[in-house]
Amino acid sequence: MANVLVYIELSGDRPVEASLEALGEGRRLATTLGATLDALVPCAKLPEPPEPDLIELLSGLGADRVMVLTAPHLGGPPLYATHGDAVAATCEEERPTLVLLAATPGGRDVAPRLAARMGAAFVPEPAFEWGAGGDLVLARPVYGGLFRRRLAIDDLERPVVVTLPPGVHARERGDEEAEVVMLAATAVDVAPVEELGRRVESSALEQARVVVCAGAGVGSREGWQLVCELADELGGEAVATREACARGFAPPDREVGVGARRVSPRLYLACGASGSPQHLAAISGDAEIVAIDEDASAPIFRVAQYGLVGDLHAIVPELLRELRAGKALEAALAGAAADAAVESARAAAARAKREADAGIVVAEAGAGEDEDAGDGDGNDDGDDDDDGETPKPAVTG
Ligand SMILES: Cc1cc2nc3c(=O)[nH]c(=O)nc-3n(C[C@H](O)[C@H](O)[C@H](O)COP(=O)(O)OP(=O)(O)OC[C@H]3O[C@@H](n4cnc5c(N)ncnc54)[C@H](O)[C@@H]3O)c2cc1C
Repeated sequence: MANVLVYIELSGDRPVEASLEALGEGRRLATTLGATLDALVPCAKLPEPPEPDLIELLSGLGADRVMVLTAPHLGGPPLYATHGDAVAATCEEERPTLVLLAATPGGRDVAPRLAARMGAAFVPEPAFEWGAGGDLVLARPVYGGLFRRRLAIDDLERPVVVTLPPGVHARERGDEEAEVVMLAATAVDVAPVEELGRRVESSALEQARVVVCAGAGVGSREGWQLVCELADELGGEAVATREACARGFAPPDREVGVGARRVSPRLYLACGASGSPQHLAAISGDAEIVAIDEDASAPIFRVAQYGLVGDLHAIVPELLRELRAGKALEAALAGAAADAAVESARAAAARAKREADAGIVVAEAGAGEDEDAGDGDGNDDGDDDDDGETPKPAVTG
């Protein structure tokens, strides 16, 4: 294997987190395959000498080479229209065997077109597996998740371009300093692209650890609001099935599925979603699934670790009440602890004043009876050196 190349997408001057995760996966693959790992950074310009921060960051995350590709038009949004020619030209020159891009909106736009330009195979969001002979196999669900296709990379006999979903792969650490390669792309006139804004919350959804899903069973916009409340209470994000969006209960940009967005939470709470393969295929395999459905034979219960059979309009408000009651109790306990700490501090202050009035010298907090005494080991190790009565906050319930 020649090399693995990771396309690093910038937001302003910083790489987006999903690209750093792709770099982490690239590092692990390159190590196993005995390949070199290149991080390709298309940008308008880097200050001379190159901004140490970015180079150091990519080097520290495992890149063997950081290739900074500059041209004025590369400062535009990370799309094929702006970056495609320059990135394809670099790939033609470098001939990577495997190109990784984060499956951001930009990455999803660049990847298939880049693959077509390179004569490469394009494999969106596969799982990486290893064949019996140690060969890399890319596996992904097809036909709406009903089948699984496995592609051995050695059998393809051409490069492969792969997108990786955000929030699934972890960063990696590198221990060697990366070589820095400065490349100037040919300046070209690209069709003007008007950036209307970036969906800031998109990464919040893709990276959410808790996701609550509204299926068609929520029955109305009010049902969707209930699901949003539950997501808020759990510190997560609310999503919906296609059916819930199609019926106008939930906004279309919250749809999850093979034709929509992907999520990789630890906890996935389905409310009135039957569990269609097209929907479930977009939820990472390691999510813990909890399902609420009034139909005990709904397919979602075949994949859920926990199931609640019943009307979600009764169960979700009950869950909200329980969660809020739990939080109220926590707040009350924290409040009681704080009151006790204040009371204790007041008592200490009064005692110190009484002692000062009586002419008693009080040692400073943290000091022993004499400066070097400590516990005899000469270390300031936090051992119980202080025999004085340092007030401690009490917790009461
Ligand atoms: C090519 C293709 C691509 C597709 N892509 C996607 C996609 O990307 N994303 C996607 O989501 N779908 C997609 N679909 C659609 C998918 O097949 C399903 O139709 C859809 O996911 C079903 O949504 P649902 O579970 O909300 O609805 P339903 O299947 O109608 O399920 C509703 C569930 O709610 C339960 N219920 C009803 N009322 C209550 C209540 N009061 N309390 C508790 N439970 C209740 C019912 O028992 C039922 O199990 C695709 C389909 C095709 C053919």
